[in-house]
Amino acid sequence: MKKYIVANWKMNQSLLEANNFFKEIESSSADVKVWVSPQSPYWSILLPLAKEKNILLGSQNISEHISGAYTGEVSVQTLKDFNLSFCLVGHSERRQYQQESSALCLKKIKLCLENNITPIYCIGETLDERKSNKTFEVLKRQLIEGLTSVSAEANILIAYEPVWAIGTGETATVSQAQEAHQQIKKVLKEESLLSIEPPVLYGGSVKPENAAELMQVPEINGALVGGASLKARDFSSIIRAAKALAKN
Ligand code: PEP
Repeated sequence: MKKYIVANWKMNQSLLEANNFFKEIESSSADVKVWVSPQSPYWSILLPLAKEKNILLGSQNISEHISGAYTGEVSVQTLKDFNLSFCLVGHSERRQYQQESSALCLKKIKLCLENNITPIYCIGETLDERKSNKTFEVLKRQLIEGLTSVSAEANILIAYEPVWAIGTGETATVSQAQEAHQQIKKVLKEESLLSIEPPVLYGGSVKPENAAELMQVPEINGALVGGASLKARDFSSIIRAAKALAKN
């Protein structure tokens, strides 16, 4: 399976920084797909720069509504108008600060799929849930609630992002990440959720120092990267780690 290296810039990067990033960044390859989600006002400026490196651009969120009186929201049609390729859905920061539920994510996932935008559905447990041995239960619930009634052939990616590892510098150990990824793949099969096995990315303090050991795990099909995606040098080194693994 190909590896996917996805940058989530969140509310970071000035236009100047974003421009410089694309000058320096390592390109996508046949085996390693590089995707970047900048802040939405920059899409049209960054699109040609990303294209030069075979990098696809995406959104960090969409509205669950098609159009209307929803101040401050971005519609899926806007993503299409800007030739965007993917959209993050249910990132833990949106679940935490905007109270987004998995049921709401399902609406967004369906809108993406109907409009040929690839959703990256983010799931993961909090520290309390992990401490009380609820990790597998939480992942199963998020998968069922977010993917029920999604077409079996849907083109979708899953990102396993343990909430306690996002932006904290704390990474899941290789075995913690591997068992969570195995559980996700098992639940998808048992619940007959998607007939085509989706790539499952790991996210949570991925950096140049730990990218290779995480991505050498067969069940980890790439990385969703926050902090370390802001510097072209660090992100390029994560991309190169994936390329080196793809060669073996
Ligand atoms: C993220 O926000 O999706 C993420 C994984 O962030 P970080 O890499 O900074 O932990």
